[in-house]
Amino acid sequence: MIIDSADLDALTAEVAGPVLTPGDEGYEEETAAWNQAVPQHPAVVVGATGVADVQAAVRFAEARNLPIAVLATGHGALIPSDGALLINLRRLDGIVIDAAARTATVGGGAVVQSLVEKAAAAGLAPIVGSNVTVGVVGLTLGGGLSPVLGRTYGFAADHVRSVEIVTPDGEKRHVDATAFPDLFWALRGGKGNFGVVTALTIDLFPVTRLYGGGLYYAGEDATEVLAAFRRLLANTPREFTTSVAFLRLPPVPELPEPLRGRLSVHVRIAYLGSAEDGEALVADLRAAAPPVVDTVAEMPYTAIGSIHAEPVRPVPGYGIATLLSDFPAEAADRLVDAAGPGSGTSISLIEIRQLGGAMAEAPATPDAVGNRAAPFQFFAGTDGEPGMAESIHPRLAEMMGALASWDTGRRSVNFMEVFDVAPEVVATGYDPEAYERLTQIKHRYDPKNLFRINQNISDVAAA
Ligand SMILES: Cc1cc2nc3c(=O)[nH]c(=O)nc-3n(C[C@H](O)[C@H](O)[C@H](O)COP(=O)(O)OP(=O)(O)OC[C@H]3O[C@@H](n4cnc5c(N)ncnc54)[C@H](O)[C@@H]3O)c2cc1C
Repeated sequence: MIIDSADLDALTAEVAGPVLTPGDEGYEEETAAWNQAVPQHPAVVVGATGVADVQAAVRFAEARNLPIAVLATGHGALIPSDGALLINLRRLDGIVIDAAARTATVGGGAVVQSLVEKAAAAGLAPIVGSNVTVGVVGLTLGGGLSPVLGRTYGFAADHVRSVEIVTPDGEKRHVDATAFPDLFWALRGGKGNFGVVTALTIDLFPVTRLYGGGLYYAGEDATEVLAAFRRLLANTPREFTTSVAFLRLPPVPELPEPLRGRLSVHVRIAYLGSAEDGEALVADLRAAAPPVVDTVAEMPYTAIGSIHAEPVRPVPGYGIATLLSDFPAEAADRLVDAAGPGSGTSISLIEIRQLGGAMAEAPATPDAVGNRAAPFQFFAGTDGEPGMAESIHPRLAEMMGALASWDTGRRSVNFMEVFDVAPEVVATGYDPEAYERLTQIKHRYDPKNLFRINQNISDVAAA
């Protein structure tokens, strides 16, 4: 798609931020995503500095029938944006805490760790995911599965008070339970399908500390560790969340020596109760095998990123995920066979997350988040350069296939990666009636399906 240069000049004059096309200085930086596996080469990128820039960019694209892609951090930049107009929101990173109302209002490009720190200064905490370099809005629009607060309070999307959005017609709208209630329902779970969210007001919770961290074991102890992990699952109150991962970490000096260049099994712990009660809950796990690294201790909420200890620097990578109906002893055995020592796999991360608790319950204000009954999520992810999707996918799919007997065939929208954006897969992220309703709302607000470079609600024919 070549854009007329006079048109571009008009857009550049209207927008305060940069407007760049391929070959321009700064284009690579403006289009760079955290996940570098799917390089972004839009026809034009607009570095928005405020709502007016977003409106100008959306109107420009709408008038020319250009698909619109949205980039905040690029953790979920999964689909090529070739030929599209890409709106980079990283400059919209404002965060305002209202301690009395227990809310935060964040800009469309605000990042999790900044929000966590600002909220902590007021003695409060947001519902966020495992990785603290992710964008707050992208996380929340896709549901927002928290491995710390989710089982106690629900999904991040369940706790949105209001949304400021530029809809595909270029209008700025304030959306809440009474203004555009259909859109309010759809936005909370419907991901990036309905426009550019320029601000989000969310609930904060009176949480400042927890008992949490990671217990790392030698890969050879996988069977005993998974047995203890399963015993723990039977005893966990909803204030307690755990997950387990098979990690194959690189031999780099930044990592603790016992984890370098070998297989380890990582049990993640987050408990909002006292350290004393937490220690009692974890005692059996600690005794199951000798941990090679044990970071589970009293910690401030601001340190939650250390629980999963995921990479914070940009990496190219591919992942696959599905929701499980159960994780019985037989599933644990299959996982050890497929991912444990002697399996021969080189996949760097294979994890089982515990869900349930408040995430399994309907929120006070209904939203589009689906598949709430699923008790576990499987995820497998591995490093991979651009262009390796086709060679990596069979390996990840084979790993997922090891747990096929417990695979519900349903997915979490936020964990639908590059392999999972076909319409029939996206539909599995929602309950069937909710998906039907989403398609109707999509048709109402985005009849040309301009916002389709995402987990697309796509019963609308592409323009
Ligand atoms: C290492 C890692 C760990 C993760 N852990 C979790 C987890 O624990 N829980 C969980 O729920 N998710 C998790 N995720 C998934 C993550 O929440 C999604 O990838 C999310 O979309 C990232 O948003 P972003 O803004 O950082 O990324 P981006 O790539 O910038 O955005 C991804 C998409 O989100 C939409 N979007 C983002 N911002 C806006 C906006 N302002 N307006 C409209 N649309 C927008 C767009 O469709 C965009 O294409 C994880 C991802 C990674 C890479």
